[in-house]
Amino acid sequence: MTLENIKEFLQNNPGYLKWGDVRIALKLDTDIDLVKQAKLEVKNVAQDEVNSGPNILILDIETAPLMSYTFGIWQQNISLDQIESDFFIITWSAKWLGSDKVFNGLITPKEILNEDDSSIMKQLWLVLEKADIVIGHNFKRFDKKKINSRFIENGLGPVSPYKVIDTLEVVKRNFGFTSNKLEALARKFGFESKHDTGFNLWKACMKGDREALIKMSLYCDHDVEITENVFFKLLPWIKDLNLGLYNIDDEIKCPACGSNQLKEAGFHYTSISKYQSYRCEECGHISRDRHSILTRDENKKIIVSVK
Ligand SMILES: [Zn+2]
Repeated sequence: MTLENIKEFLQNNPGYLKWGDVRIALKLDTDIDLVKQAKLEVKNVAQDEVNSGPNILILDIETAPLMSYTFGIWQQNISLDQIESDFFIITWSAKWLGSDKVFNGLITPKEILNEDDSSIMKQLWLVLEKADIVIGHNFKRFDKKKINSRFIENGLGPVSPYKVIDTLEVVKRNFGFTSNKLEALARKFGFESKHDTGFNLWKACMKGDREALIKMSLYCDHDVEITENVFFKLLPWIKDLNLGLYNIDDEIKCPACGSNQLKEAGFHYTSISKYQSYRCEECGHISRDRHSILTRDENKKIIVSVK
């Protein structure tokens, strides 16, 4: 198949755009590099269609395990010299919020044997460069740092700054669930929980097993979909987002979901001031004005304790 044939196929069957390169190549019985090129070209068109609000990306990665020599299994202290190969990224999956397409980058069997994630990291760099906000579970402590490590090691610079909404952080701050793992949350909220991946799947991937890589990519795609569901469930509890900032006009908007359906909901008091509060009728989020409703004269009548 030529590049043009593959592009035509993808344009006519956009559902396949969410498939990984390897999966499409297997389906069409064609060359992976051609598929990569065709997908990038078709997707660039698709990504330009992203709406005028903030570009919000849901992202997840799967990393290769470290491989090291050990002399036992109990309380091992592994020195750097014992490490045979360091981690790298096997696959990433992402989705623009509000779009129904999950897209991904998956390392090829040849690349995984060479521990070479340069190609999928370049793709991810281009995607992240377009994001204003990134949503992920444990993204701040894990994914973002792993991604940046692979960027610098592959000779890529930092992407333009993006804000992170870490669903794990939101859960930890607000709730006392028995487990904060994505899978446990999904089950708790009644979403389809993620596929069960035993360590054997990682082992098969590391040997360059094509089917295992596809399975890993599907698993990562699915995690992105679960993260999106969990994000929507958590939305009214998220306090460090302000969607109103990305679309300023005459109306006030819910910081969490951007809706203008706000109802006055009592007052918010600090130790020195009083503000109008609102409840969002769309998502239930509670917000308040930034300016006090006290008049200048009323303000003068407020005194505070000496500390
Ligand atoms: Zn809202």
